[in-house]
Amino acid sequence: MDTTGAGGGPRVAFIGLGTMGRPMARRLLAGGCDLAVFDTAPAAMRPLLDAGARAAASPADAARRADFVITMLPDGRRVLEATTGPTGALSGAPPGSVLIDMSTVDPATSRAVAFEAEREGVRMLDAPVSGSSAGAVDGSLTIMVGGSAEVLDRSRRLLSLLGGKIVHCGATGMGTTVKLANQVMAGISMVAVAEGFRLSQALGVDLRLLHEVTTSSSGDSWPLRTRPPVPGVLAAGPADHDFEPGFRSDLMRKDLELALSAAVDAGLDLPLTSAARHLYARLGPAGLGHKDFSAVISVLPRRIDGT
Ligand code: NAD
Repeated sequence: MDTTGAGGGPRVAFIGLGTMGRPMARRLLAGGCDLAVFDTAPAAMRPLLDAGARAAASPADAARRADFVITMLPDGRRVLEATTGPTGALSGAPPGSVLIDMSTVDPATSRAVAFEAEREGVRMLDAPVSGSSAGAVDGSLTIMVGGSAEVLDRSRRLLSLLGGKIVHCGATGMGTTVKLANQVMAGISMVAVAEGFRLSQALGVDLRLLHEVTTSSSGDSWPLRTRPPVPGVLAAGPADHDFEPGFRSDLMRKDLELALSAAVDAGLDLPLTSAARHLYARLGPAGLGHKDFSAVISVLPRRIDGT
């Protein structure tokens, strides 16, 4: 890792300081990075400025002296705007610097940004993450990386401030592709858990007992262990806290839409992903888009008597 900043660590521009970006940027500061930050919502920058980061006026301004530029933005449109737009990071980043997009986007966006980056002499990695905001806080994210192995080697020490497992998945777009496959599995599994709970509830099963049995049976899964979708089963789970905080259901809907569009590009039909996507899409209009994705149980079809 380059050591060119005033604090001895690399100069890093961090763009997008939301649920994930804010704790990740904090870890970089604590790890000795010289940090410039930008977010379109000025209030999102405040905690980082108080902790010693420099406020930038645009992604280009943040990137101007950077060794690494990290983006952690909601979707591909925002990533394109913040990197290739008129005041995007690529118009400021010095040749030889590395752009690392850690947002969940589609593989085509990762490849488009990498293409534009190369034209400016900037190397690019797609490096989406799994592990939710708790993993961002304690630096235990799983990071799935697409791009050159040599550029990943250069970036590994920086990424290790953020993640416990860093896996090179292949060429540009492959990190994003693996992340979307993970989202397909997690999104469908959550619906399966919700249906199992709904069936058990309707037939009068004790739901704590159900959780105890299934977490040590073949129905076990990460959604089942971390977020059983009804209150009173797991005190630390989102359902016991009005489905907050957690992984927002509107992000799960977005990720499944990205997976479905990647499937179309590959000439594939993914019927369960499609069905799950329809269920998550019903949460937004019901005012539940910001709730944890385990709230999907609330949009499962009702019994004929409405219960
Ligand atoms: P978020 O909505 O909480 O934060 C996004 C931030 O980006 C906001 O502060 C917003 O103001 C800022 N922003 C939007 N457009 C911008 C622009 N053009 N320039 C600069 N800043 C801009 O989102 P999040 O939950 O932090 O998720 C970020 C990404 O990480 C998403 O792609 C998401 O799918 C992925 N992800 C999220 C989680 C999670 O648990 N939340 C887990 C893994 C991956």
